[in-house]
Amino acid sequence: MNMKFKWVALMSAVANPILLYLAYKITQQTSNKRPDQHTEQTEVLFFPDEGLQCPRLNSRRGCLDPKCRSKHTPQSLARLEEILKSATKSCDVCMFVIASQQLIDILVELHLRGVHVRCIADNQDMDGVLHALRSNGILVKFDKSDYLMHHKFVVIDSKIVLTGSYNFSRGGMGINRENIVKVSYPHIVDAYVNEFNEMWRIYGKTNFSINFRKDLVYEG
Ligand SMILES: [Zn+2]
Repeated sequence: MNMKFKWVALMSAVANPILLYLAYKITQQTSNKRPDQHTEQTEVLFFPDEGLQCPRLNSRRGCLDPKCRSKHTPQSLARLEEILKSATKSCDVCMFVIASQQLIDILVELHLRGVHVRCIADNQDMDGVLHALRSNGILVKFDKSDYLMHHKFVVIDSKIVLTGSYNFSRGGMGINRENIVKVSYPHIVDAYVNEFNEMWRIYGKTNFSINFRKDLVYEG
């Protein structure tokens, strides 16, 4: 056996266990991480709530007011608001109805914080809401076709999707039985991002519906 071959054989004998060990660790880390990551990021919210969640529920000391009549268990609306407020880059809202002032205020708050907010809704009479969004510079587009834009989903930072029966309507706030699922599986989120961008492209092309006041339309 010449020196060169011996050297290669020696290096292989030393390097192979190290490489095998590293491959094992990487595989272990990957397989450990994935299910936990998604279990953590997937959740379901049901409505209506039992009542308004106490604003002190998640504070360090909790609620110390014995007369407080708010709910001291987690409520879905408070969680929905928390998820929406977690946006740092973008918030794409695609809702059949957008009429809840409370949720609109959160969209405005995000916009003022520098989050890129875009809204798509069905072609309905909701001038007041549209005006509120528009006057704050939020981009809003409407389905102008004869069919319903019946989607109800939100994409946050292109990483989280909220979807279900829940509309941003007044009824959705506390009367109806509704559900929202929060998912962050990349292939699911990507599909929703593509659907939103496709609608945003299509709805930007045509003129606005005859049923709507053109002076209130903001398209960008
Ligand atoms: Zn309380």
